[in-house]
Amino acid sequence: MSRFLSDQYTTLEAYVPGEQPRDQQYIKLNTNENAFPPHPAVIRAAEEAAGSLHLYPDPECRELREALAERMGISPDELLMTNGSDEILNFAFMAFCDKHIPAVFPDISYGFYSVYAEINQVPYREIPLREDLTIRIEDYFHAAGTIFIANPNAPTGIALRRKEIEKILQANPYNAVVIDEAYVDFGGESCVPLIREYDNLLVTQTFSKFRSLAGGRLGYGAGNPELIRDLNKMKYSTNPYTINRMTMAAGIACVKNDEYNLENARTIMETREWTRQELEKNGFEVTPSRTNFLFARHPKVSGEKLYLELKARGILIRHFNAERIRDYNRITIGTREQMEALVREAGKVVSGS
Ligand code: PMP
Repeated sequence: MSRFLSDQYTTLEAYVPGEQPRDQQYIKLNTNENAFPPHPAVIRAAEEAAGSLHLYPDPECRELREALAERMGISPDELLMTNGSDEILNFAFMAFCDKHIPAVFPDISYGFYSVYAEINQVPYREIPLREDLTIRIEDYFHAAGTIFIANPNAPTGIALRRKEIEKILQANPYNAVVIDEAYVDFGGESCVPLIREYDNLLVTQTFSKFRSLAGGRLGYGAGNPELIRDLNKMKYSTNPYTINRMTMAAGIACVKNDEYNLENARTIMETREWTRQELEKNGFEVTPSRTNFLFARHPKVSGEKLYLELKARGILIRHFNAERIRDYNRITIGTREQMEALVREAGKVVSGS
């Protein structure tokens, strides 16, 4: 820490992203990237856009918003594009929370929520999940704050039904409710169809998972145009050009090739179910995932031991140190071959061979 850092940040604990190791080639199942590369048309579009990199990108992302809005059956003014969904989540903390409007979210959820609360000096309340790691929706009724719920939740992978979220919306007419749908395309139910009915609803989604564009950094929010205007105010007050030309072109091509993305998502869901069954045969307990990852623990092997032993065998998964989930690991669904290796090596670790 330099002697110049503002006092307000001296105790801030930054988010720790999953490891991106360079020491050797791992089977990388630790950051929930898509198992498949982008469609060739997406790569071509990004290459073509590189020729115009001397020019600023369109800050309004008009063409991208039009393509995406059409695909989603909503209007472009109900959408805001950002640099990953992380950025729109931060904008939501900036716009819809302050020292009188706390943030409210589950105790086990996306680790960035508490970091965004801290950096924006927003008080927050963490609501414990049930023992089985599910969300009790009644805990969010009359929340007296802005609600952030990842649905499906991470790292548990467990999803609420749209009907349940709707009850939370109805019980919070005076609070904004942000539903983070980073993983919704792997079997979840989206709340986008509710945005016209509930002016307190912001749905955030990302191109990082379903659309295989984690490296491009593209996310967005869908909501009532007034909410979107508020979030745009945050964007135009920090950096209007958060999405570069190559990512913008890649994003448009991605949306136009969603059949490819859908096919990949189907494969990933099939591989997820195969992996879950195989892990259960080896004695693992696995939560019911509607995402591109599994959350698993074994009664005889600690979460840390499994993580370290798999790493030594060239397979990287994600371990968390938080008290309640220390026994678990989060395992991204890769290709079938990668998951066969994971199942084989995890089986050896638990049988001690
Ligand atoms: N929400 C959740 C629940 C996540 O797990 C992640 C990242 N893995 C994000 C949001 C942000 O993703 P991105 O910024 O890549 O869109």
